[in-house]
Amino acid sequence: MSKNKQPELKEVLCVAIILSALSMCACSLKKDPEPPNARTRYDLLNTVITISIYEDTGEKVFNDAFDKISSIEKAMSVTLSDSEVSVLATMAGISPCVVSDETYFIIKDAFDISAQSGGAFNLAIGPLVKLWGVNTAAPRVPSLTELERVKDLLDYNAVILSDTDKSVYLTLEGMSIDLGAIAKGYAGDAAADVLRSYGVKSAIIDLGGNVVTIGGRPDGADWRIGIRNPIIGESGHIGVVAVQDKAVVTSGGYERYFESEGRYYHHIFDGKTGYPADSGLLSVTVISDSSTDADKLSTVAFVLGYRDGAEFLGKYTDTEAVFITTDLEVYMTPGIKDAFTITDNRFQIAG
Ligand code: ADP
Ligand code: MG
Repeated sequence: MSKNKQPELKEVLCVAIILSALSMCACSLKKDPEPPNARTRYDLLNTVITISIYEDTGEKVFNDAFDKISSIEKAMSVTLSDSEVSVLATMAGISPCVVSDETYFIIKDAFDISAQSGGAFNLAIGPLVKLWGVNTAAPRVPSLTELERVKDLLDYNAVILSDTDKSVYLTLEGMSIDLGAIAKGYAGDAAADVLRSYGVKSAIIDLGGNVVTIGGRPDGADWRIGIRNPIIGESGHIGVVAVQDKAVVTSGGYERYFESEGRYYHHIFDGKTGYPADSGLLSVTVISDSSTDADKLSTVAFVLGYRDGAEFLGKYTDTEAVFITTDLEVYMTPGIKDAFTITDNRFQIAG
């Protein structure tokens, strides 16, 4: 028996409630902020998206931000059959396709991080993700023969990009790209840009746990963003990071998984083994100025594991991370230590 774990409404609402409760209790000596103007949508990017603005704004800013997210989904989704990304897969082994500037920009970013991370992030992971069916209602463990069959299709160097005409060519029939580990992050940055263009100075955009903060709280204090308890089957948060103007993005096995013959299989794959990444981590949270970077880097670090992941992140300035291991130990990069607090004492700060 296998069951798929999709993000459920009550779960995401729980995240939203934690978020607001945390921001409320953030600074008990100061006056609690007014409740935000918040709008939630359940029909975008296969998740629940809440935009909370701590100022009086009209309806238009919300509509424009959700429209922007929707247009990104229409171009970059693997599940919508007419998205640009899906059309590229249809044309794999046949011909290059010209894509929109925005899609090209993200595909190029995904290609570059694939190369830089030696394939820990792999934009050509599509055939493997489809084989496991983790984003469908019927996930399953593939046979070794099936895994062998898709192996050659996962070669990101077989994706040919042309800056001149912004075309993308998946050179092998059966190849597909998957932007699932970067597009949600990009949507967060793009939505934040819409809010900023309206002059918004204090807001939180939560795309199913991929959080982007604008400014600080209305009283100037830091936002306090909960880090989800990464143990499969549990809920709540295990710690809090205090931030302003940062994206806080987590990759974790708990986000989407299924059970088969007593084992759990999650949705972040190691292209080298063909299996869900098993690097000793339950989750990695990356804190960065850019939500796009935080999204792609949290996937890289999750696949690489703590030691190699922390070394890789060291190359990025203003990028911090919280790693939670399967032994419930918490490792952090130096720059976040003062801003992170554990709230569940089963988890221990390592070292
Ligand atoms: P989440 O979906 O929880 O935000 P990630 O950002 O790590 O987590 O993205 C996971 C998604 O990215 C998967 O559902 C799949 O579509 C895709 N993916 C899985 N493994 C990889 C990988 N090694 N590199 C790039 N994309 C991946
Ligand atoms: Mg990611």
